[in-house]
Amino acid sequence: KERQRLDKLLTHMGFGTRKEIKKLIKEKRVQVNGELAREPGLHVIPGRDHIDVDGEPLEYRQYIYLMLNKPQGVLSATEDRLAKVVVDLLPPRYRAFHPFPVGRLDKDAEGLLLLTNDGKLAHQLLSPKKHVPKTYYAVVCGMVTEIDVEAFRQGIILDDGYRTMPGELKILCPGPEAEVELTIYEGKYHQVKRMFAALGKKVTYLKRIAMGSLVLDEQLKPGEYRELTAEEIGKLR
Ligand code: URA
Repeated sequence: KERQRLDKLLTHMGFGTRKEIKKLIKEKRVQVNGELAREPGLHVIPGRDHIDVDGEPLEYRQYIYLMLNKPQGVLSATEDRLAKVVVDLLPPRYRAFHPFPVGRLDKDAEGLLLLTNDGKLAHQLLSPKKHVPKTYYAVVCGMVTEIDVEAFRQGIILDDGYRTMPGELKILCPGPEAEVELTIYEGKYHQVKRMFAALGKKVTYLKRIAMGSLVLDEQLKPGEYRELTAEEIGKLR
């Protein structure tokens, strides 16, 4: 195992520039093996030395799996010139793993977003051949009836002529502002909104509640996240 400068390691792990790390150390916020770190140039061995920043242990594991309840107004991306992106919601100790969102939610949509740096798992979940189910809660303007349920069951022809796979529509609460739950097995651009648009209805609120075996933790308010449990990770594979 390679010796490394403390400031270089922390920079690499997303805690800031060398200058910022120097400041962190000066502010006595970094500990190495239980002792206050005094020098940015201190040599450490990643994986052997125990490093804490603000009392939080630095972790050397390879992969990170986070469930985020994406709030409205935030982009499902890792960076954007102007807009706030989902990884901005994470603290440095998670950003250090360079997680990315698995699939996308529209800027105005909310709900379940898996963030990971496990490219293989992401690929499996996004593969069009796998037909991973995605379930959404939506509020729809315009009456939703059993005729629509049947239309979703048949597959819907979108504005570009593409016929979707069958989707399962459940009417939770009928009326002019209907509440529905919809499960689809593919992920075309703006798919849920476009499926309803094809039936002359407008989605006014959209929240993803499940993706494959992963279900949004109801404890998470918009903007909150947590690590997946070992069981949740196991079931996704
Ligand atoms: N369908 C949409 O229209 N928007 C999303 O964000 C996800 C699915």
